[in-house]
Amino acid sequence: MDINNHTNTYVIKIHCSRCNEFLYKYRKRSNGALVKCHSDRIIEDATHGDLTCPKCGREFARYKVINNKPAQKIIRGRVYVKGHLKR
Ligand SMILES: [Zn+2]
Repeated sequence: MDINNHTNTYVIKIHCSRCNEFLYKYRKRSNGALVKCHSDRIIEDATHGDLTCPKCGREFARYKVINNKPAQKIIRGRVYVKGHLKR
């Protein structure tokens, strides 16, 4: 869980599936489907921190605590991921 360990992590961009607005730049650990986001791995946050799209206002995730750390569970189908930039 070391954010500075770049082995097998990908930098992805997360977009709203309704209006295509950019939401997060996120450091993801594997190339599987995006189910949740750990708050401490969000590199760039284009939202107002309220888990809704800043452009169309649709909620795209729910707060959840996973392993005593703040996380966001993505609501299925509300976002899409652009590109896996290998680091
Ligand atoms: Zn939107």
